Amino acid sequence: MTRDDQLHELNKKWSKKCTCVLKKTATQPVFGNGNARADIVFIGEAPGKSEDKLGVPFVGAAGKFLSVMLEHIKMKREDVYITNIVKYRPPNNRDPEKSEKEACARWLYEELNLIKPKLIVFLGRHSMNNFFPELKISDAHGVLIHKKITYIDTEYFLPLYHPAAALYNGGMRKTLQDDFDLIPKILEKIG
Ligand code: URA
Repeated sequence: MTRDDQLHELNKKWSKKCTCVLKKTATQPVFGNGNARADIVFIGEAPGKSEDKLGVPFVGAAGKFLSVMLEHIKMKREDVYITNIVKYRPPNNRDPEKSEKEACARWLYEELNLIKPKLIVFLGRHSMNNFFPELKISDAHGVLIHKKITYIDTEYFLPLYHPAAALYNGGMRKTLQDDFDLIPKILEKIG
């Protein structure tokens, strides 16, 4: 079985098994998307309106901005893998609740351990705090973390501001772009 087939099976299994209450209000699950052999996995928070409609992560305004930043470091979406901690859209894009994140957690862990990226990039504090609850995004953004954590094979993590937060905030946008520029250097360093 190819890795794409394995991912397909994993998503089929978890979309049946996942007990997340957001299933009741969402249009469909939004599976991770991109290169199943990628060196980098980006993890966002939860699908928004466009993602819920199309069933693909990061296709709305924040997603377009993410694509621009990828182009900036000479990468395409097809080179990386993009997913969310929660696979179903929360009503009115509210923050996902603890129980909703917990319900989708094993799905995400299995997904990450199938891809085994060299680097996991957190898009925003929700994604980061899912793995490192003690960190503050204002301090942690742009700082590489090297740590072995339970459930995940990958040992390198980079927290970034969420593109939706940075989109309309000039200062944060510049910071996010500068942090993004670190990615090729980090990949080179961790080999
Ligand atoms: N924001 C996220 O965190 N994830 C998406 O898929 C889209 C917007």
